[in-house]
Amino acid sequence: MFIDSHCHINFPELAARMPEVLAQMAHNKVTHALCVSVDLPDFPQVLALAHQYPHIYASVGVHPDYEDTPEPSVEQLVELANDPKIIAIGETGLDYFRLQGDLEWQRERFRTHIRASRQCRKPLIIHTRSASEDTLRIMREEGAGTDAGGVAGVMHCFTESLEVARAAIEMGFYISFSGIVTFKSAKELQAVALELPLERILIETDAPYLAPVPYRGKMNEPGFVAHVGEYIAKLKGVPVEQVAQQTTANFFQLFQLQP
Ligand SMILES: [Zn+2]
Ligand SMILES: [Zn+2]
Repeated sequence: MFIDSHCHINFPELAARMPEVLAQMAHNKVTHALCVSVDLPDFPQVLALAHQYPHIYASVGVHPDYEDTPEPSVEQLVELANDPKIIAIGETGLDYFRLQGDLEWQRERFRTHIRASRQCRKPLIIHTRSASEDTLRIMREEGAGTDAGGVAGVMHCFTESLEVARAAIEMGFYISFSGIVTFKSAKELQAVALELPLERILIETDAPYLAPVPYRGKMNEPGFVAHVGEYIAKLKGVPVEQVAQQTTANFFQLFQLQP
């Protein structure tokens, strides 16, 4: 069994095909999925999905790429996270690739999420793109890691260096690989995945984006996370059951859930 640790099945293109999406999950033995919030207006839909389906979990947060959207406060995030199906804060982080200019608001928003995570004791889902130095710095300054009294979390859709991965792991974080790791061109990322211990790895789709090989370019969905798991097993030369079991155990451990 696999778990998709990060998807956006509330997005209209997937929400419109929900019965199919859930059937594909079952077919590929994907037992659970974490539907990740990207802004506050979408949050009620995300929460409703988690309440409707026992095997769907959810998070609350505002994505760093969403510029013109209501800004959350620490209190608001903590309050919205007060639900047993909300298991994480995010996605949050920094993205200097998609947006340029003065991004102080992004850094402030990131700090707000880390403070909320520390307060409500739910792990962070961190998005970082072309901003790893500032991301790690703010994680340290705000005490995001278990080494500093935080509850850590996951570096999602990881595309950074081994050095960045190790720095995050030292703070108690997990590293999540998406379909990107299956791309032919992703040699450096594959080397990172090969080097990291399976005990610190999660797998995800980030659906509807980034479909793994052999679905590259098509609409992604949580069921396809099985292909990410299979790829990592091949890469590491271990049985796929081992990757499935360990990444599933990692998910339950990180999000403090009973399997
Ligand atoms: Zn992301
Ligand atoms: Zn995402």
